[in-house]
Amino acid sequence: MDELNLITYEAVGKYKSVRRAIRKGLVSQEGFIAPARPFNNKRNSCKRGKYSRPVNEEKKRIYASIREYRKDMLTTEDYNAVPVYFCKNCLSLKIRVLGEYSEYCDDCGSTDIETTNIETWREMYKDKYGREF
Ligand SMILES: [Zn+2]
Repeated sequence: MDELNLITYEAVGKYKSVRRAIRKGLVSQEGFIAPARPFNNKRNSCKRGKYSRPVNEEKKRIYASIREYRKDMLTTEDYNAVPVYFCKNCLSLKIRVLGEYSEYCDDCGSTDIETTNIETWREMYKDKYGREF
C-alpha cells in the first residue's frame, strides 16, 4: 500500500477520498488543493499573430507554473534531509559562508556554526525563544 505523505491537510474533508483526488490531479501528492482553473479554455483565436486574450493566456501560464511548482515541492522527508547551517549562539539561519571552513552568523557575527535538519533546528529555536520561528 502506498502511503500518503501529506504536508497539509487542507484537502482532507473537502474530498471524500484524498487518494482519489490526488489520482485525478485535483490535489497534489503533498495535499495541496490545485487551484481552480482561473481561465476559460477558449483557444487563442486571434489571427494577427498576437494573443487575442493576453490576460487569459497569462492566467494559463501562471496556472501551469503553479501546478509545476507544487508538483516539485519537497516532501517533508526531503525537507528534513537537507542540512541547515545555524548559529549556535543566536540560532540564526543567516549564515555567511566565506570558504569551506569559514562561516559566520550574519546576525551576531559568531563563527560557532553547526548543521542540523530543519525540524531539529525548529525545536531548538522554540526551546530558546519560547515561540515558533
Ligand atoms: Zn548568531
